[in-house]
Amino acid sequence: MSCIFCKIVKGELPSYKVYEDENVLAFLDIAPVNQGHILVIPKKHYANLEEISNDDLCCLIKAVKKIGKALKQGLGIAGYNLQLNNDPAAGQVVPHIHFHVIPRKKGDGLKLWPQGEYREREAEKIAEKIKNGL
Ligand code: 5GP
Ligand code: ZN
Repeated sequence: MSCIFCKIVKGELPSYKVYEDENVLAFLDIAPVNQGHILVIPKKHYANLEEISNDDLCCLIKAVKKIGKALKQGLGIAGYNLQLNNDPAAGQVVPHIHFHVIPRKKGDGLKLWPQGEYREREAEKIAEKIKNGL
């Protein structure tokens, strides 16, 4: 298995771990968007949100919540962004599902995505298509 996050789980690659339990590991991102940027991963390898079991997803999101609290209390930050790049088309580079927890402070200059608008009746059609995919 050549997955770098699996190697981090196994201790074959170094990382600055901040939290670990039976199912989940959280460690510093090597190239932080802001200081304290954390990656939270399941110990078991799943590529994306469609693959991960509901049980492991519950453990993962609970750990994300714990890390958010630790960032607020430990680093004194006011808030954070969660990001999950699901699949390469969405910018996922490491094919082992992970939440980014990105500390934010006022005026840090980080700009989130630009927003657009729907043309007439377009929103309705898009909403219908999505509902058909449920
Ligand atoms: P993705 O684009 O897949 O959502 O994000 C992958 C993240 O993993 C990137 O933010 C990148 O900086 C981080 N990363 C890649 N390789 C390593 C590594 O070896 N160690 C750590 N700690 N982070 C890594
Ligand atoms: Zn993996």
